[in-house]
Amino acid sequence: MNIHEYQAKSVLREFGVPVPRGIPVFAASEAEAAAKELGGPVWVVKSQIHAGGRGKGTFKEAKAGDKGGVRLARSIEEVVAYAGQILGNTLVTVQTGPAGRQVNRIYIEDGSNIAKEFYVSLLVDRVTSRVSFVVSTEGGMDIEDVAHNTPEKITTFSVDPATGVMPHHGRTVAKALGLEGDLAKQAGALTAKLYEAFVAKDMAMLEINPLIVSAEGELRCLDAKVSFDSNALYRHPDVFALRDEGEEDAKEIEASKHDLNYITLSGSIGCMVNGAGLAMATMDIIKLYGAEPANFLDVGGGATKEKVAAAFKIITADESVKGILVNIFGGIMKCDVIAEGVIAAVKEVGLQVPLVVRLEGTNVELGKEIIGKSGLDVISADDLDDAAQKIVAAVKARH
Ligand code: GDP
Ligand code: MN
Repeated sequence: MNIHEYQAKSVLREFGVPVPRGIPVFAASEAEAAAKELGGPVWVVKSQIHAGGRGKGTFKEAKAGDKGGVRLARSIEEVVAYAGQILGNTLVTVQTGPAGRQVNRIYIEDGSNIAKEFYVSLLVDRVTSRVSFVVSTEGGMDIEDVAHNTPEKITTFSVDPATGVMPHHGRTVAKALGLEGDLAKQAGALTAKLYEAFVAKDMAMLEINPLIVSAEGELRCLDAKVSFDSNALYRHPDVFALRDEGEEDAKEIEASKHDLNYITLSGSIGCMVNGAGLAMATMDIIKLYGAEPANFLDVGGGATKEKVAAAFKIITADESVKGILVNIFGGIMKCDVIAEGVIAAVKEVGLQVPLVVRLEGTNVELGKEIIGKSGLDVISADDLDDAAQKIVAAVKARH
């Protein structure tokens, strides 16, 4: 689960991590009071969306000009003007895709005077089963680009969970960033606090880009991106409360209510499959025959008719879906349950696009019979190859 920058900074603040003072604002009318409370003389008005690259982003509505999603303001009037331009506008960044994201919250922050920008992140390294640090002097840039172009500028190390974070880790960070004296001391303290926050809150990723040295000689986290391990959220109701469903895909939220493994993709063929492996194979073969999947959907092993119907409805409600492929290999899952679920959903919401069904395994004859008798306009397929070719052909024939 992801959270907004202002929420991430508030979590980090609890652990004593140095972050600038700031106030989240949800309506332009609140901006003036927030700016006054912070006092200036420089403020930063920051768009809050669950995507990076905001500074270099552009807004859809021209009223915002082309100054990006992170603005430096030098007067209260400027803060108020920027708040009005940004709130409700749609920000497009390299991470949002061309559709962009509507900005419904901004964070007004005490502006910092930047002397240097660095990069620090923590993540779970699955190979070593440890928390790893990634540290670089190249702050404010895309770390993927740094890794590609100048890998020698990146230092990584992992922390042994048996000892936890040690003073030498802090010295490694300080050295990687070329910090000495008091700043090296600050780096040591920061390293320990970031690690403590990461472990205590079951984070999956914590990225500070940029970490800065201010003109006053202080290390400070100017940006913070945090994602949490979803499997550990039950231990952190305070974290779960930070969820912003407005930032999530509505179809994925609906799917999670039915305990379906569903992810929206950008193609045109909706897939309903049981088993993650079969779902992957189905997506691959759709691509092989020249189309793109609109989603990944694993209905799971023991799905009920209701769950199948819910899954089918999520797929049909997606306007980018131009055809549906149901591909079921009945093991624990019975083909007749799938057939009944699909029919129940079609009765309720109708069917506007071609539907190819490939059933195999437990109760396959019964499943085919139920679909046959339903009068549904279904193209049946014998195997995965046949099914993929038929749905791709059916979609192409209509467009
Ligand atoms: P991102 O573009 O989504 O990663 O958003 P950031 O929070 O990283 O902000 C983008 C850039 O704005 C940073 O890399 C900084 O260069 C700049 N920036 C952010 N806050 C301040 C600030 O307080 N003072 C100054 N001078 N620049 C800032
Ligand atoms: Mn950033």
